[in-house]
Amino acid sequence: MAGISRRDFVKLLGAGGAASALGLNAGCETVPKSSKAAPRVVVVGGGFGGATCAKYLRIYDPTLNVTMIEQNANYVTCPGSNWVLGGVRTLTDITQNYDALRSKHGVNVVQDRVTSIDATRRVVSLASGKTVEYDRLVMSPGIDFRWNAVEGYDEAASELIPHAWKAGPQTVLLQKQLHAMPDGGTFILCPPPMPFRCPPGPPERASMVAHYFKAHKPRSKILILDAKEGFSKQGLFMDAWNELYPGMIEFVPASKGGKVSRVDTKTNTVYTDEGLTTHKGDVINFIPAQRAGEIASKSGLANEAGWCPVNQHTFESTQVPNIHVIGDSAVAGALPKSGHSANNIAKMTAAAIVSLFRGVKPPLPSHVNTCYSLVSPEYGISVAAVYRLDEKGVLKGINEAGGLSPKDAPRLQRVQEANYAQGWYKGITQDTFG
Ligand SMILES: Cc1cc2nc3c(=O)[nH]c(=O)nc-3n(C[C@H](O)[C@H](O)[C@H](O)COP(=O)(O)OP(=O)(O)OC[C@H]3O[C@@H](n4cnc5c(N)ncnc54)[C@H](O)[C@@H]3O)c2cc1C
Repeated sequence: MAGISRRDFVKLLGAGGAASALGLNAGCETVPKSSKAAPRVVVVGGGFGGATCAKYLRIYDPTLNVTMIEQNANYVTCPGSNWVLGGVRTLTDITQNYDALRSKHGVNVVQDRVTSIDATRRVVSLASGKTVEYDRLVMSPGIDFRWNAVEGYDEAASELIPHAWKAGPQTVLLQKQLHAMPDGGTFILCPPPMPFRCPPGPPERASMVAHYFKAHKPRSKILILDAKEGFSKQGLFMDAWNELYPGMIEFVPASKGGKVSRVDTKTNTVYTDEGLTTHKGDVINFIPAQRAGEIASKSGLANEAGWCPVNQHTFESTQVPNIHVIGDSAVAGALPKSGHSANNIAKMTAAAIVSLFRGVKPPLPSHVNTCYSLVSPEYGISVAAVYRLDEKGVLKGINEAGGLSPKDAPRLQRVQEANYAQGWYKGITQDTFG
């Protein structure tokens, strides 16, 4: 397939809003073929950022040679993983595959782990010993953890006290522990400091665990010991907790003794107040501080803070040319680290790469983020915002565009938002992997 039809072009405008600036002319039926060999784009990571970018590169320009390298055969989405803990979904429900990327979109999907990048020779090396050459590289390796930032919590500790902040075996481990917990037990949830992936994720997790406890272990308690002063959609979550789970969830901010300074896996205890106060949990979920995915840091793409600075127009690294960093790893101005943002950024980056290959100016991005949270299967809340580049080239939220679910909304609206949350999941996974 070398061309793109007018009907598909119109679809693209709806999907990514970017095609108009790719050098495509709405009056043309086809994109002119390049006389040179097809440019090669390698995408590292098959999550929301990587899979979307690989797919849309091929949609925007079907002549491109696109290879996506992902270490796992399938992808378990973090969105929906809290619902698994609540018993609302299974792990199978939130497991995606790459069949459509391969067969429908012509992406060369390689299951392997990237071990190093030679940015001078433009070569990616894989754990299997193979190498792949690129003209442009897209990195979307997600996050990794700052092990030992809190005493006693390293990778080995996460096998006993799970973080469950990468979905898959960690989600299953936490779920097993919650199922084995006695009624009347205490679940301690320790959210990380900013910046981290999915700011509304911890309170949604508390909600979904409360939903499970209400049905199966109603005398149990949830203690949130937070490294921060507050959390996303706090007023809405707390109103809902009072209504649905009265007395079950206690939130302790950093200034009131919520900041954990030590974790002891032997006694299932966390220490706060500089070690003066101890909290013993029946189940503990400690979510460590985060940084860009290891391969990004190893490749010289991360700054001192551990994240990857980029030109926020094209998402090309400001540290290494010809490499674009997208998704959670990137410093993306005011955009939160979310699957929705990663999907948006991926489409705009695909458009920028096609433009750069064609020697035309990349389209100016306009990004949207929407984040739904389930407080129960029939109670949803959301936040949405629109972001554009300011005069300094930084992505900023646009005032009055977007907003929060209203406080004191009628119950029907909460039910509708819970349905929209499920619809959002279907839509975003179809757009990314379908
Ligand atoms: C509990 C929870 C709930 C969430 N809920 C939502 C939600 O409701 N809505 C929302 O928008 N976002 C949500 N998120 C956030 C969302 O999951 C992330 O923001 C999103 O996954 C980021 O996409 P990414 O492509 O940057 O990284 P990822 O999706 O993590 O993908 C990175 C991929 O790169 C691969 N990889 C890494 N290193 C290598 C390597 N060296 N070689 C090969 N492959 C590699 C990994 O295996 C992985 O598949 C949630 C997160 C959590 C933890």
